Amino acid sequence: MANQEIINLKKKYLKFTKLNHSDYKVTEISCDICNSKKKNLLSKKIMWGKKHGFMPIVSCSKCGYIFQKYKFDINFNRDFYAKSYREKIFKNPLPSKVFLRDQEFRGKMLFKFLHNNFKIPNKGRVLDVGCSVGLFLKPYSKVGWDCYGNDPDKSFINYGKKILKLELKDQQAEDMNFKKNFFDLTIIMGSLEHCYDVNKVMNKCSISSKNGGFLVLEARGDPQSSIKNYFNHNHYRYFSLNSLELIMLKHGFEPLLTTRYPITGPSRKGSIFCIGIKTKKKSNIKSIIDDSKKKESLLSIHYRFKYNELLNKGKL
Ligand SMILES: [Zn+2]
Repeated sequence: MANQEIINLKKKYLKFTKLNHSDYKVTEISCDICNSKKKNLLSKKIMWGKKHGFMPIVSCSKCGYIFQKYKFDINFNRDFYAKSYREKIFKNPLPSKVFLRDQEFRGKMLFKFLHNNFKIPNKGRVLDVGCSVGLFLKPYSKVGWDCYGNDPDKSFINYGKKILKLELKDQQAEDMNFKKNFFDLTIIMGSLEHCYDVNKVMNKCSISSKNGGFLVLEARGDPQSSIKNYFNHNHYRYFSLNSLELIMLKHGFEPLLTTRYPITGPSRKGSIFCIGIKTKKKSNIKSIIDDSKKKESLLSIHYRFKYNELLNKGKL
């Protein structure tokens, strides 16, 4: 029997993303972290640009990871990020001055924070996954690091290459190809929510990282709006402090600092960070989750959203 939910979703979603000329496959997915098929529904309404549309958002019953219940096939993802994303979100394929200033500032803040608080080498190789125009790399290139960055957004990559003279690649993170034990530092600043296959990307980062190499993950974190506005169409998953640590552990990184502290400044309210280091051992993620300390309960997830709803209504 055809799933009516999938038929509805496909019809409306493709129309919204202006990709309705093609026939993409839609599948229901399991938890990216623990692979559990059991999930709890959090919301059916999400933001589609400026209006509300349909996409069920669920949390994993086993580990608490929050994600979109359905996934379009990889061709949809490629077409969307190459053609519609920038125009849909920013209405302009070129970066604005405000955007450039903000990214440059955030890059400087991250550089300072890492070098003041961790034993980051003075020189090395750094990779920015989902780098946009690449300004997070600028402080590193200034002090002689070898900088690498990739992003599927062609117009932003071209801007970073031509105007900022950075070595960037117009590429999906799933397609990147680096040597083993290559990077001293990998940063993924708010891009892990957008990538198609989070495990493939994390696995590639794990292989290309040196043992002792650092990984910085930034995610959008805590809700700043009501639940249906917080969830939107181009974030396929929503990390909490807990799930950022779990995805690191799963791929051989040991979290050193997991925090809501605004490491990159005040412009992205609610951002969360996890800074970890590559270890030789791979963690057994199932036993870590079974140990209830690493599980986020449905109740605590609901409270997180409930608290924010009340805050927005001025009731707290
Ligand atoms: Zn799970």
